Amino acid sequence: MSTTTSNQPAPGADSPAPEVSGAEIVFDDVVKTYPGQSAPAVNSLSLTVPAGEIVMFIGPSGCGKTTTLKMINRLHDPTSGTITIGGEDIRSKDATALRRTIGYVIQGGSLFPHMTVAENIALVPGLLKWDKDRIHSRVEDLLELVGLDSSRYRDRYPKELSGGQQQRVGVARGLAADPPVLLMDEPFGAVDPITRQRLQDELMSIQDELQKTIVCVTHDIDEAVKLGDRILLLGEGAKIAQYDTPQNILANPANEFVEDFVGAGSSLKQLSLSRVDDLDLQSPVIASVGDEGRTAAEAARAAGQRDVIVLDARRRPAGWYSLGEATRMGRLPAESDADISVVDRRATINDALDSMLASSHGGVLVTGRRDEFLGVVTFEAVTDHIRAAHEDTPS
Ligand code: ADP
Ligand code: MG
Repeated sequence: MSTTTSNQPAPGADSPAPEVSGAEIVFDDVVKTYPGQSAPAVNSLSLTVPAGEIVMFIGPSGCGKTTTLKMINRLHDPTSGTITIGGEDIRSKDATALRRTIGYVIQGGSLFPHMTVAENIALVPGLLKWDKDRIHSRVEDLLELVGLDSSRYRDRYPKELSGGQQQRVGVARGLAADPPVLLMDEPFGAVDPITRQRLQDELMSIQDELQKTIVCVTHDIDEAVKLGDRILLLGEGAKIAQYDTPQNILANPANEFVEDFVGAGSSLKQLSLSRVDDLDLQSPVIASVGDEGRTAAEAARAAGQRDVIVLDARRRPAGWYSLGEATRMGRLPAESDADISVVDRRATINDALDSMLASSHGGVLVTGRRDEFLGVVTFEAVTDHIRAAHEDTPS
């Protein structure tokens, strides 16, 4: 971005990184008809995406979600109508310059295979001619933000990462130049359910810090309910069926189409509105990596626990062992994080349940900002909550 393309401060080395929050996006009577097609893919869409919110686009396949998204960063241009970002018509900028101010994350992360993780993330800052030191520290910050240990991952190539890790790098790359707007097209569609849930949690915690305007396409109503400040439910030709908060869409579907789309059992879906935060967390006795296993097991047993929870130096979960395992271990090691069942405090009750069913501990560890350990949610706490929710929901 040059100083002439935007009313934001230019991200030069001499100015501090701007505190960019999101920018409002407005569609005014936007039509997109692809060449050679009679019916428009997007027909007269008018819509305001408020600054700093996450809006989830959902609707049947082919209804125009991707087309709508791609008009925001001018991968497609509307046939008619206008789109503004932060009050500025997007046609007033060169399309390439515009795209450097809008993060774009698609399924699989779409990383360049011949570039390392660090090089992939540094791509846009490099194009914007940030100086080397600034790029280096930005890459370090972003890796931390998306939960990847820089010393382990920055020099790896994409094929040396799991699908979930690649997706994390994709998110980091999308955020690299601190864009006010982040576009995501089914970003978590290709990963397994537990990884997807962690990535969603990650995104919510990132959004807590950054307050971007995020437009995210999904085909998963639970994901829309979980992540969205608002949900845009579209029908054929990107006709708005309902644009509202998750709560209102679940409680007051505007018409039969919405009702069908949201699906039966929406009282169960309300569980996607409840967060782990709403439950009582238990605060067990904890141990640190490197503690004597036997001593830690004795302390846990004395506190009435059936296992030993181990944290690293930054209070992130590093191990979760039965009393027997811990006793036999000598000094407590750190496990690979894949083996510990962890959810973010903003995870939904459904997520917590899924994680528990995949773990052998009858509970799940809850973390907050920057993965810091907050406590344990037990299976009983979840089932109690579900029971209470059902008693409160008239059916
Ligand atoms: P969604 O993302 O909701 O599945 P799309 O925006 O990809 O929907 O597609 C909307 C409609 O536009 C579909 O009928 C699709 O076939 C058509 N379409 C999408 N991209 C193109 C293109 N590049 N050229 C012609 N038609 C397209
Ligand atoms: Mg699509």
